[in-house]
Amino acid sequence: MKMKAFLDETLDQLADRDLLRQMRTIDGSQSRQLRIDGRDVLNFCSNNYLGLADDARLTQAAMESLRIDGFGCGASRLVCGNMSSHARLEKAMAEFKATESCVLFNSGYTANIGIISSLLGRGDMIFSDKLNHASIIDGILLSGAQYKRYAHANMGSLEALLKAAAPLSKKLIVTDSVFSMDGDIAPLPEIVALAKKYDCAIMVDEAHALGVLGQHGKGAVEHFGLEGQIDIQMGTFSKAVGSFGAYCCGSKQLVEFLRNKARSFIYTTGLPPSVAAASLRGLEIIVQQPERRKELLAKTQFVSQALNHLGFDTLNTQTPIIPIVVKDTALSLSFSRKLFEAGIFVSAIRPPTVPANTARLRVTVMAIHTQQDLELLLKHVERIGKELCLI
Ligand SMILES: *Cc1c(COP(=O)(O)O)cnc(C)c1O
Repeated sequence: MKMKAFLDETLDQLADRDLLRQMRTIDGSQSRQLRIDGRDVLNFCSNNYLGLADDARLTQAAMESLRIDGFGCGASRLVCGNMSSHARLEKAMAEFKATESCVLFNSGYTANIGIISSLLGRGDMIFSDKLNHASIIDGILLSGAQYKRYAHANMGSLEALLKAAAPLSKKLIVTDSVFSMDGDIAPLPEIVALAKKYDCAIMVDEAHALGVLGQHGKGAVEHFGLEGQIDIQMGTFSKAVGSFGAYCCGSKQLVEFLRNKARSFIYTTGLPPSVAAASLRGLEIIVQQPERRKELLAKTQFVSQALNHLGFDTLNTQTPIIPIVVKDTALSLSFSRKLFEAGIFVSAIRPPTVPANTARLRVTVMAIHTQQDLELLLKHVERIGKELCLI
């Protein structure tokens, strides 16, 4: 009964420390409101930034594909599961990002573990921002390369590690371009300069930047005008694009290498073609309707400024991810619970997702929120913030 004792003990410990995680079940689709236990609450915790997750055009694209392509794709894409829907999305994505080529992965998580662990190994060195996403960290651990963490967005810390590095065969700097729990943007121009100086490759994870940043919504690389200077650009269709699946854009050789070596690409069945079709439609909407992104950014600015004005600590956010740092784990839970009672859904983010003593509410703004939604959020956040003596 060692296993049973282990399970009991672990779960009890998590509960004692207010770290046990539970899921709420949503009835119906992902929108500005969510139906939970027969009640509608305003949704302020989704990564569906542009509101495309239940957009009729994505559903339509998926249904057309279902009619023509059926549901499953039967095998790994390298065997007989490579369908025209995958190829169309890869071509569109490479064009959108202005890179030579693109390869799909089944999720952002599997993209990061596959890309990093195939490109680097023992004897190589990886420089990674301390706040990078868990999937990047898992990719690094799986690679067996030396793992050097630099202080968050701190170029002095990165350069000190680069200077101390032995002249190894391969080096990679990897960073989220928008940090998923803080909402700030990585200093990519400085990272590019350091990468050149110390002969490193660069990989960026644009999960929260695609469709959100840059003049055309291409991400942080476009935002900084760094096209052509980033070796590996990955991202996911599961956030602003409103769909599912992930991509890696880069040179022809990079993509051919990944198709041959990335185990999370090779040893898994391809994405259902209807999912790729929905992603393609989402991407087209991002290109055709830049006004959605402009609205998102205007609403983001409104909420960010209001929360700062109220006196909350929102770190250095510059994106629709707006943290309200409360530090204490139990306090973050009661803040979230009280908001829920008022009809506003914002989940509390606790360690180990964020560093110890930085528990927070993670508010996310969507293009489809109404001004009234935003004002209701602010009203209740202010009231509860005062009740809990946070402001
Ligand atoms: C969400 C996220 C991922 C994982 O993407 P999925 O497609 O949801 O698996 C990877 N990296 C970052 C930075 C993320 O925020």
